[in-house]
Amino acid sequence: MPNTFKRTLVTTALPYANGPVHLGHLAGVYLPADIYVRFKRLCGHEVIHIGGSDEHGVPITITADREGITPQDVVDRYHAMNADAFSRCGISFDYYGRTSSVRHHETAREFFLDIERKGIFVRKTEKLFFDAKAGRFLSDRYVTGTCPVCGSPDANGDQCEQCGTHLSPLELIEPKSKLSDAKPELRDTLHWYFPLGRFQKQLESYVESHRETWRQNVVNYSRTWLNQGLADRAITRDLSWGIPLPLDEAEARGKVLYVWFDAVLGYISFTKEWAELQGDPERWKRYWQDPDTRIVNFIGKDNVVFHTLMFPAILMAWNEGRSEGRYELADNVPASEFMNFEGRKFSKSRNYAIYLGEFLDRFPADTLRYSIAMNYPENKDTDFSWTDFQNRTNGELADTLGNFIKRSVDFTNSRFDGEVPSDISAEEWNLLGIDWQESLGRLAEAYDGFHFREAATQTMEIARFANRFLTEAEPWKVIKVDREAAARTMAISLNLCHALSLLFYPVIPETCDRIRAMLGFDDAIGSLSSPGVPVWEAAALPGLSKGHRLKGSSEILFSKIEQADLEPELEKIARLLAEAEKREAGAQQQKMTFRPEITFDDFQKVDLRVARVLECEPVKKASKLLKMKLQVGSEERQVLSGIAQYYKPDEMVGKHVLLVANLAERTIRGELSQGMILAVEGKDGRLFVVEPQGTEIIGNSVQ
Ligand SMILES: [Zn+2]
Repeated sequence: MPNTFKRTLVTTALPYANGPVHLGHLAGVYLPADIYVRFKRLCGHEVIHIGGSDEHGVPITITADREGITPQDVVDRYHAMNADAFSRCGISFDYYGRTSSVRHHETAREFFLDIERKGIFVRKTEKLFFDAKAGRFLSDRYVTGTCPVCGSPDANGDQCEQCGTHLSPLELIEPKSKLSDAKPELRDTLHWYFPLGRFQKQLESYVESHRETWRQNVVNYSRTWLNQGLADRAITRDLSWGIPLPLDEAEARGKVLYVWFDAVLGYISFTKEWAELQGDPERWKRYWQDPDTRIVNFIGKDNVVFHTLMFPAILMAWNEGRSEGRYELADNVPASEFMNFEGRKFSKSRNYAIYLGEFLDRFPADTLRYSIAMNYPENKDTDFSWTDFQNRTNGELADTLGNFIKRSVDFTNSRFDGEVPSDISAEEWNLLGIDWQESLGRLAEAYDGFHFREAATQTMEIARFANRFLTEAEPWKVIKVDREAAARTMAISLNLCHALSLLFYPVIPETCDRIRAMLGFDDAIGSLSSPGVPVWEAAALPGLSKGHRLKGSSEILFSKIEQADLEPELEKIARLLAEAEKREAGAQQQKMTFRPEITFDDFQKVDLRVARVLECEPVKKASKLLKMKLQVGSEERQVLSGIAQYYKPDEMVGKHVLLVANLAERTIRGELSQGMILAVEGKDGRLFVVEPQGTEIIGNSVQ
């Protein structure tokens, strides 16, 4: 992909400082970004990689409340833990910041005030639950109650875990505050909204102008949102943890910036902090405010619209009316699909994960980097399994790459005094059977197009070629009859070691530095290149000349992973899977703790009727809900039900169902629901609508 940019700014989604990063995060965002950045650096391109922790938001205060510590304690713990794990994994950030920093708060305030001054924000008064005992407004996660859709007694204010329906706290039956168990009261509260719709046209042309170069999933997610029409989105919250609204008015008190508005600005504030450390505080501008810079945001697919619509809209609002100091928008947003773990989704909340730090306590970083690069979820979800990890480490890294390097170095040491025994001409090099120019070109194309799996695969192909070359040339036999031929074989092999140390560097940097050291160099590969000084192309030519001294000893680059090494991991998987199954079964078992007894008279209060579904359609922006028109006797009712995942609207039409006919009317997602239809839960949580048999008489009561 030819481009004319002079430099590149790479950002990676900010991991939330409320837990350790796991391999799914690494595979989707940080490793691909690091591979890309290392490749660009090798090419002599000017590039910086900016990341950091997202340290605001409600889940952090929930953790702090649960553990009886402060939110600052929580973010200090996970920021340090994640920064350390990334560093041990070789993720080469130029800067890794924190959104709790002074500079970040200042940057976020500056954006807020600029947009506020321009009168772009919309203020809206809304009703929000307030816990009078605790003296605090309650964000969605702090309210619990009975789910209006499935009747589960402990639904959260944002979502019912039981049936998956997205809710607002106002929809809960018998809401309770999680802070004090008190019944919350509704109070008026003023909030600032960002009118995304104001930028609809600009955002449409932004997305469409990149439709050829962005991944299909990124274009599709963005278009889906644009097609629905962009709504106002709140950017403030009634919370104490976060960036306080920088306004003096009484109504701004007790409010902070909502984390979606604040976190993406971290990319900018961290670049400023990086520039300060370079002793050139204005240097950040050349990355954010210069059209010659290519901005690339590496993210997971769950973050697409924040980066293709919301963040750009904030920058567009800033740019409005400005001719100087305008921000550039991202040129690409490579969003990954998910990498699963032994066939299931990684889940932090369910503790179904391998955490990066734990993994690195047991296995070397490069075995993980290689294995994940080979499973990079570029266009579809992929899977990390221990067996695949073992096979790749043993068969590819140890038996192919490691074995080739060690044999080359050892034989040179033992038979040629540890010196490169011959010069290799460029012609000889090119006649080996590899078209170097073409191979390097294809590799560069793979890296530039974010096809990291392909890049790792192609590089391993070159290692296979090298290993085969040495095996077939049999210098240990040839040397007995033709020392000169054996010398040429070894010179070629050592030059292949040298080329591989450069070519594999983006994927397995630590190993490549070890290869380089074995070849007798004191410097690290990362120190060879700098902006304007490429070393990547050096792999296309023999890099070692006759007489060059090796270090003198070889080392084993990769230890094989024995079955015994994996036993604890496989046992852990078995345990986690068993726990997951138990939890799923437990969800049913919990139902067996019955609700408090009711009298027959109580039951008689429930008016159950047979009803027929006349019409059925999906509900906008509520993917779990179906809206039905029911016939009950001579009456028609409208009822919402959280069964959209399990039934198509067409399937429902004509069905007979059981209706709780005297349930108080409720409004869900702005739609009236006059009753509830009965459904039973199946094994994996799917719902089956109860269909009464043997009756055609609509409106009959149920005994
Ligand atoms: Zn529910």
